[in-house]
Amino acid sequence: MTWMKQELAAAIAPLLRVAPLVDVAMCDYTTWRIGGPADILVQPSDEEELSALLTLLAERDVPWLVIGNGSNLLVADSGIRGVVIRMAEHFSSAVWRGDEVEASAGMLLAALALEAAERGLAGLEFARGIPGSVGGGIRMNAGAYDGRLGDFVTFVAAVGFDGQPIRLEREQIHFAYRDSSLFALKAVITRVGMRLQPGERETILAKMKEYSQRRSLAQPLEFPSCGSVFRNPDGDHAGHLIEMAGLRGTRVGGAEVSQKHGNFIINRGNATAAEVRELIELVQERVYAYAGIRLVPEVKFVGDFD
Ligand SMILES: Cc1cc2nc3c(=O)[nH]c(=O)nc-3n(C[C@H](O)[C@H](O)[C@H](O)COP(=O)(O)OP(=O)(O)OC[C@H]3O[C@@H](n4cnc5c(N)ncnc54)[C@H](O)[C@@H]3O)c2cc1C
Repeated sequence: MTWMKQELAAAIAPLLRVAPLVDVAMCDYTTWRIGGPADILVQPSDEEELSALLTLLAERDVPWLVIGNGSNLLVADSGIRGVVIRMAEHFSSAVWRGDEVEASAGMLLAALALEAAERGLAGLEFARGIPGSVGGGIRMNAGAYDGRLGDFVTFVAAVGFDGQPIRLEREQIHFAYRDSSLFALKAVITRVGMRLQPGERETILAKMKEYSQRRSLAQPLEFPSCGSVFRNPDGDHAGHLIEMAGLRGTRVGGAEVSQKHGNFIINRGNATAAEVRELIELVQERVYAYAGIRLVPEVKFVGDFD
């Protein structure tokens, strides 16, 4: 390792308005409330800061990882070496022009969906209950019920690993089920352009309320989780297969397959990443034995698990 934490944090500090944090417990930055320490966590405020930061990290050959709201991450108990770039409240705004919006990557999807509703713009009703950021959501092509984020995108702006700006038009991006070609981009997404459809404010808000009620009935929202752990296999639902395999309530330490929704693993209070991973593997084995289907995790594993 050609860099030291304190010395690197001191070199980064003048580049950013928000001071870098050293030895940061990642459990405070994930919805699962799990994860060991990151060496350094930074929260850039604009693209200029991000560009200067990435240029410095490239020059010094420092590994980095970008996160949004940490709602689809399992961070290893040993944490993350290098720099975590958190795109959240410091990088959060929306500029509206008619039925189009340019949303900053750190904005929460729920807030963006609500702003759209207030303006009488339809399409993002499904996103009101997804606890991710615009950047994480677009990369994951987050979706629920009848909607997927990728369907509304007009462009994506990012800063590349070399500090250079990148702009991709809609036709240059491929979106698939909980996946996109943006994963191949070694860059931090900074802004996303979207076009919505004119609608009735009251109708939009009513649809959001209905979705939210359906979520509270079906999902264990009172416990920390990452939402659905596994992708749905073709023609079936992971949750259904897990429940049919008799896995509801199965526990490894503080990690438990939710009684309410088979595809949720909840943190009963003190679960470790190792326990969650063990439970994920157990579920995969049992579902395979029951149905011959190998479930693929939707959640992203970050840090060193071996
Ligand atoms: C209770 C609950 C319910 C959920 N329901 C849904 C649902 O209905 N539908 C659904 O699709 N998901 C759902 N999720 C999962 C999660 O909210 C989504 O996957 C969301 O899009 C992740 O966004 P994030 O900002 O939290 O990303 P993170 O978890 O922080 O990161 C996810 C991935 O995106 C990358 N990333 C994040 N920000 C950027 C950026 N600015 N530039 C480049 N890459 C970036 C990260 O490196 C990582 O690979 C749910 C989660 C929870 C906890």
